[in-house]
Amino acid sequence: MLTAELVKQKAREFGADAVGIASAAVLNAHPPDPKFPQTPERISPEIKSVIAILKRIPAGAFRTKRAECVQYMDQLVLREMDKVCLRVAQFLETQGVYAFPLASQETKWEFKRASYGYLSGRHVAVEAGLGTLGLEVNFLSPAFGPRCYTTAILTTAELAADRKLTHQVCIGESCSRCLYSCPADAVLHWGIDKRACAQFAQEFGYSVMLTELQKFLTAADPEERLKVFCSPRGYAIWQGLLRVVGAFGDCPRCLEVCPVGDDYVKWLAEEHREIPEKNEQKVALAKQMQADRKAGKEVPGLSPWNIRWVGEEGYLPPKKRPGKNPSPSAEHA
Ligand code: SF4
Ligand code: SF4
Repeated sequence: MLTAELVKQKAREFGADAVGIASAAVLNAHPPDPKFPQTPERISPEIKSVIAILKRIPAGAFRTKRAECVQYMDQLVLREMDKVCLRVAQFLETQGVYAFPLASQETKWEFKRASYGYLSGRHVAVEAGLGTLGLEVNFLSPAFGPRCYTTAILTTAELAADRKLTHQVCIGESCSRCLYSCPADAVLHWGIDKRACAQFAQEFGYSVMLTELQKFLTAADPEERLKVFCSPRGYAIWQGLLRVVGAFGDCPRCLEVCPVGDDYVKWLAEEHREIPEKNEQKVALAKQMQADRKAGKEVPGLSPWNIRWVGEEGYLPPKKRPGKNPSPSAEHA
């Protein structure tokens, strides 16, 4: 008999580091942004369950001095994750239900001018009880912090859904290490300035490629044209096209300094204790955010709609939680 437990067991056997299940009806009722709904029903109205898969990014790359090591590792993890999803989908079809992996790296151009797919893997993972969103709206798992990727398999199988976590995994404004480390000042109060982030996270991404192409097309003479692409920047774009390195997930800073996750304590705490980018302005901003929250000021990222993915009951250290939130590292890993 096909049960949620069997599907999770298979996903773990195929290589998932954590797995949870969300109901498609719940995801349809709670799109992250109702104006641009990312819901299973827009992909297929027949979908009943969405299986969230999580794969951790090995921490070693975050100890290196070269961002390329993280970027390359990211791509390996993403490819591996797609394979896990494919195997789960194939298994489900042997059980008489149809299933397919989420096209997780695809962006829907008509939705927003930023990476914005058909379904948000982060939000699905929250609904499936694997973690909550952090101050910079990265997905945070209690076991791996933000050093993990999420994706999903959509299926017509009716599977028992997991409970969503109700406490924040993120420590919040009193931590603000992601904000201190961000070279783009892109971390907002439970939000992100995606354009500012993209300057570092997509250093040689689509927008940079368009800028270079424009220079090429408007250059007056052939010599000038050639220089546009015969340059380190042109070469980096070429590498990005070949291997995606440099075009996506480029900046490791908010991932490597986040103290949430067993891997941080084990591998990263010493290396990343100091944050060179931290300055007085950033500290003042974090304090202001904390004061605003305490004063009950309106924070869009914590609106009655968005709090669902942040954790309705706020932050409590894991040891003080009243047994409501079973550790996903124990339950789902
Ligand atoms: S990826 Fe880099 S630029 Fe983007 S929010 Fe994180 S630290 Fe800032
Ligand atoms: S660095 Fe701190 S504030 Fe930022 S996501 Fe991690 S726990 Fe939350």
